[in-house]
Amino acid sequence: MNLWFTEHHTPHVRFSIQVDRQIYSAQSEFQRIDIFESEEFGRFLTLDGYMMLTEKDEFIYHEMMVHVPMCVHKDVRDVLVIGGGDGGTVRELLRYGKIRRIDLVEIDALVVEACGKYLPQTAAGLRDPRVSIHYEDGLKFVRHAHDAYDLILVDSTDPFGPGEGLFTKEFYGNCCKALREDGIMVNQHESPFYAADAEAMQRAHKRIALSFPICRVYQAHIPTYPSGHWLFGFASKRYAPVLGVDWARWKALKIPTRYYNTKLHAGAFALPTYVEEMLRHVEG
Ligand code: SAM
Repeated sequence: MNLWFTEHHTPHVRFSIQVDRQIYSAQSEFQRIDIFESEEFGRFLTLDGYMMLTEKDEFIYHEMMVHVPMCVHKDVRDVLVIGGGDGGTVRELLRYGKIRRIDLVEIDALVVEACGKYLPQTAAGLRDPRVSIHYEDGLKFVRHAHDAYDLILVDSTDPFGPGEGLFTKEFYGNCCKALREDGIMVNQHESPFYAADAEAMQRAHKRIALSFPICRVYQAHIPTYPSGHWLFGFASKRYAPVLGVDWARWKALKIPTRYYNTKLHAGAFALPTYVEEMLRHVEG
């Protein structure tokens, strides 16, 4: 048998993984959900045919989304995660004993149910008593939150379909209001490499820069995302992402990681020249 999952990264580029078998398939109110099993990447989740995570490389995305802001901010107690129904982001947050509350706002209950059954590697932490799951649109949820969180992590799908609203000026402005005076927001920021992704990335950066005084971008290598070169947005009310960070404090926590380390954290903010130019272009 010769079964392949194929995603179009552009109209002229395809990315394929050989599949052993399909484990799950369903159409929810919001999107088509599939889980496959493969030799090279283990199990993987796709939504509407787009890769969300694989068991082999999800640690890169989730560690970089969580440990960068957790190293910068010394006192994170209350966290809001928007999207992230697979549970990988929550799993990394739960490594911090100081965090007392995690609100996960996921639009699609079926993603949580499917991951709970078939992707325990990421989903196991969702049952932790510190986690409250709200099945709601993140865009609507943040309209009613004020001065409530130290950290917001926008672990969304791409800027079309149900995730579209999570890339708007209104959403970023409301996230800023939902954060305390020294709060940080990190979002998945798309890729700078292919033209359509780069445009989405620039649009998001421009909108975030309108709401936050500190607005930076950092990078990671994620093999199963388009081009493998992925960006994260770091938006902050007080703390800079590298300057003045107490690296020793984070190291003393002895959090186990496979990708993140403090040297890589500092280096991840050093961007290729073409990416810096793209960002400068929209910063005005
Ligand atoms: N790491 C992944 C990536 O970047 O490809 C994202 C994974 S996570 C599964 C994304 C989640 O965001 C999905 O489960 C999806 O249902 C959820 N989502 C999309 N739009 C949303 C919205 N407006 N409000 C809350 N959750 C949303």
